[in-house]
Amino acid sequence: MKKILFTCALSFFFLVNQSFSQVKKAPDRHRGDGPWPQFIIRGVTLINGDGAPPMGPVDIVVERNRIKEIKVVGYPNVPIDSSKRPKLEPGGKELDCEGMYLLPGFIDMHAHIGGKRQGADAEYVFKLWMAHGVTTIREPGSGNGLDWVLEEKEKSARNEITAPRIVPYTVFGQGWDKPPATPEEARQWVRENAKKGAAGIKFFGAPPEIMAAALDENKKLGLRSACHHAQLNVARWNVLNSARAGLTTMEHWYGLPEALFDKQTVQHYPLDYNYLDEQNRFEEAGKLWRQAAKPGSKKWNEVMNELLVLDFTLDPTFNIYEASRDLMRARRAEWHEEYTMPSLWRFYEPSRVSHGSYWHNWGTEQEVAWRENYRLWMQFINEYKNRGGRVTTGTDSGFIYQLYGFAFVREMELLREAGFHPLEVIMSATLKGAEALGMDKEIGTVQVGKLADFVVVEENPLENLKVLYGTGAIRVTEDNEVVRVGGVKYTIKDGIVYDAKQLLKDVRDMVATAKKEEGFEIVQPGVNG
Ligand SMILES: [Zn+2]
Repeated sequence: MKKILFTCALSFFFLVNQSFSQVKKAPDRHRGDGPWPQFIIRGVTLINGDGAPPMGPVDIVVERNRIKEIKVVGYPNVPIDSSKRPKLEPGGKELDCEGMYLLPGFIDMHAHIGGKRQGADAEYVFKLWMAHGVTTIREPGSGNGLDWVLEEKEKSARNEITAPRIVPYTVFGQGWDKPPATPEEARQWVRENAKKGAAGIKFFGAPPEIMAAALDENKKLGLRSACHHAQLNVARWNVLNSARAGLTTMEHWYGLPEALFDKQTVQHYPLDYNYLDEQNRFEEAGKLWRQAAKPGSKKWNEVMNELLVLDFTLDPTFNIYEASRDLMRARRAEWHEEYTMPSLWRFYEPSRVSHGSYWHNWGTEQEVAWRENYRLWMQFINEYKNRGGRVTTGTDSGFIYQLYGFAFVREMELLREAGFHPLEVIMSATLKGAEALGMDKEIGTVQVGKLADFVVVEENPLENLKVLYGTGAIRVTEDNEVVRVGGVKYTIKDGIVYDAKQLLKDVRDMVATAKKEEGFEIVQPGVNG
């Protein structure tokens, strides 16, 4: 029996006495058309990830998987003069997207590929991501192990499977019987990780000397890094320590209020607190931001300025904590019925042993505290962006009622709520992620020479981000008919066009089959019919 580090959304890691619990790999690709020697997307309105306002109609010419030309072909509400349009060459393909909107492919910066306990196989997870326009993910370590992820990464790179491009990070210490215990061991693990082909490391925190050594070695090797600063180590090593030592991105928010403490050095833990009690952990975390230095105070500005100077990236993953401020909303999201696997639903249910299932007794007081927590946290994030800081879009789905793909759109909505202009939201979801991955020469904007990764939607997502949800947005027509609009129309990766609605149908079928096999119906917790 081999000990592995089982990663989890929100907590420290778990040492689990079991072998890697891998999910099923994605089957060979049977969806998507292309690429073509020449592919022209006709008449779209372009919403680029670089902050430029929408512009259209434009024709976008792609050759194989590269953007060749972006051509303005007319004016809004005026018929397009076809003589001005790029010519279709023999063997080429054109796609009429007049009236539609085109964005760069989305980048989910915190995307675990499924999980055995969630019963979320690769095909299910990949298709949910792709159906929501996610064409690149950063994998922050999963129970599948690095070798497994690397194989899927390669297959995705060759487009042999329907999947986003994968940037694999490894959980620090993963693959060893026990976590590196000395600076030298830390360096050794980091070197092995680089050799195996990981693009970076995901930390959960460690003693200061270990963190310093690991980050130093990793940086020397040119790899990137992410850290969820778990409370266990945060008193001695918070976000500022990480940023100074060369960490690329901080995940979630832990470690940031601690960097902002001006009247204390540890969180006001109740004296009977136990870190392994999930209710304790999440309830007390909800009181953390208000223990930090006030917005606009000297300390607030000092910390923000230093992070800005260090070009540090914040990956807040607002959505994954949303059940804390509104449990019913997260639990009853309208996509659960058709898109949530029975196994995943069971995994989400409140439990003293399931991770992140912390609502042992979650009520008004906890939710109100968390709303205030969000208010302060969002203020920091928005201000950081306003002062030139990089904020990315990450989800951490597969925990706490947050579903792959859908959660990415929710994260965009929460960035909007934090104060981002919808164009800034799109930048965060595309270019900012690409920059943090060091891939902005290849992806992140629609630009000649870059890879042909796009999201096409029939509605204007700037007016309502909800049109990006697979379930669309509700609208009443002039004839008083209630309809659903939106949902991504096409997800294009490497010049291959996927019918996003078809991918959603595939997922619904998978879920329906699993439910039928198990005779499963969603039952509300504590209510047995
Ligand atoms: Zn995570």
